[in-house]
Amino acid sequence: MIEVNDPKLTSWVPVEAGSDFPIQNLPFGVFQKDDHHPRVGVAIGNFVLDLYALQQDDYFGALLIPDEAFRSYTLNALIKTGKFKIRALRFAISMLLRSDNETLKNSANIYGKYLIPMEEVKMLLPIEPGDYTDFYSSIQHATNIGKMFRPDNPLLPNWKHMPIGYHGRCSSIVPTGTEIRRPKGQIIYKDGDAPQFKATEQLDFELEMAFITHEGKMQGLNITTEEADDFIFGMVIFNDWSARDIQRWEYVPLGPFLSKNFASSISPWVVTLDALEPFRIPGEKQEPEVLDYLKFNGDKNIDIHLQVYIEPEFADPTLVSDSNYKYMYWNMAQQLAHQTINGCNVRAADIYASGTISGNEPNSYGSMMELTWRGANPLTMSDGSERKFINDYDTVFIKAWCEKNNVRIGFGEVRNKILPAFKQ
Ligand code: CA
Repeated sequence: MIEVNDPKLTSWVPVEAGSDFPIQNLPFGVFQKDDHHPRVGVAIGNFVLDLYALQQDDYFGALLIPDEAFRSYTLNALIKTGKFKIRALRFAISMLLRSDNETLKNSANIYGKYLIPMEEVKMLLPIEPGDYTDFYSSIQHATNIGKMFRPDNPLLPNWKHMPIGYHGRCSSIVPTGTEIRRPKGQIIYKDGDAPQFKATEQLDFELEMAFITHEGKMQGLNITTEEADDFIFGMVIFNDWSARDIQRWEYVPLGPFLSKNFASSISPWVVTLDALEPFRIPGEKQEPEVLDYLKFNGDKNIDIHLQVYIEPEFADPTLVSDSNYKYMYWNMAQQLAHQTINGCNVRAADIYASGTISGNEPNSYGSMMELTWRGANPLTMSDGSERKFINDYDTVFIKAWCEKNNVRIGFGEVRNKILPAFKQ
């Protein structure tokens, strides 16, 4: 067991019951207070621990991490220091925060100098991603979407032989809190119609999780399923915003393009893979047997509770999806092994999204496309209004957390409001 994850640990920093950020979590993010230069921090209870302030006062001296890794607009430089340095850093932070450790607790001006209330900071996009892959690894999701278009043969023949994915776009990945404009594009209403240029009428979310990598191997070498964990830094919640009507017309033959690349949003705190270790569980048996390079040992799925809410502008939020990351058919180790099996190199702060996560029950589906079955069964909001897809001024937020032995490892949330399309 990783000592930092011990459920018995407590911190002298007050952590409310039900907080996403107990001492066992210690996720990394980038925060900005007032107009100061952004810094790297760790979440503890309702506070951000300022790692640059601690670095300046030599609390991490022995780790030989450069100052630039802590005074930065992104986590990229810190991620580049590698898995084992960050593991040591997380241990050092845990030691400083433990109830029985007086070192930091008794220093002057602890609140304000090292610990800043979360409501006083703005969280930035935690990474500058170099590359973004979106997988399609939930069998329930792939089956649901397949059923809508090919009722007799929902899963294509390749699906159970490899983690299907495509390369997405990084420039439009935004952090929680970013307002998102309804995109416009080419839409046809039925086969044979001429396309029209309009704002999407089928704006959708996609409930996903994503992992962020460390620097990989040199181009030409692959990462095995056994090695994969050493190249994974941590995970965030990922909302892959989608415009279904634009997607339907454009996706043949090369897959989604403008229906996806207008925005994807992520949660601000990167939960390390180390912190998620206690929540590993076996995945579904893979049948037929996979090729050797996709075989793996041990439990590679993770039990992460997922919830999606829609909050209309003047009404309380409504829970629309109650799901779990454990439903993934293909796990992260297999995704990374497949991504690199041809010699494709991965870099520090690349991001790999899971694909929409849907469970078996209709209330666990991960998109409006599935929840309303292409609009046939609208969802009712708390104010009685109905949604087939997402309306202007709706806010969509996703929460994610693990829970076991009275320890909750949370991801916080990713929350975005939709604004009307720009006028031409
Ligand atoms: Ca997706």
